[in-house]
Amino acid sequence: MTSGIDRISWDINHASGYLLCFDVPFGPVDPGCHADHYDGIADVLRRRLSRHEQGKGAKLTAYARRAGLGWTLTLIWENIDRTEERRLKANCGMAWCPRCRTEKVMAKRDPAYGQAIAAAKAWRFKPGLRQGVPVDVQVMMILEFHLH
Ligand SMILES: [Zn+2]
Repeated sequence: MTSGIDRISWDINHASGYLLCFDVPFGPVDPGCHADHYDGIADVLRRRLSRHEQGKGAKLTAYARRAGLGWTLTLIWENIDRTEERRLKANCGMAWCPRCRTEKVMAKRDPAYGQAIAAAKAWRFKPGLRQGVPVDVQVMMILEFHLH
């Protein structure tokens, strides 16, 4: 038999953890200083992801949204708590991300692939300036991959 108190406890302790992988890392190029992932925890994941899309979910995703950068939801952990979330954050997302792990495997198999991915990730968005003040601009980055 389940009491009302058990039900409340279940709701609090069984949130979803999630990992967002930015399509383009941003910030300084130095390893460990740029942002390539965001991980969080949410009681209602769909609502939290919607908040990120609106630029209201977190400072990091709000910054990415204002800069016009996208991300992909690459992983969901069910039944996670804040302690587990801190453990995941300590790994900066990279160790858990299926998309990044796939890129690592592909880079080991084909060094040219690794070089192409590294070059693409080294690209950084620089806002357009008008009299020293950032203004909205539209940027298109074209990456050509040639398979041999
Ligand atoms: Zn990733």
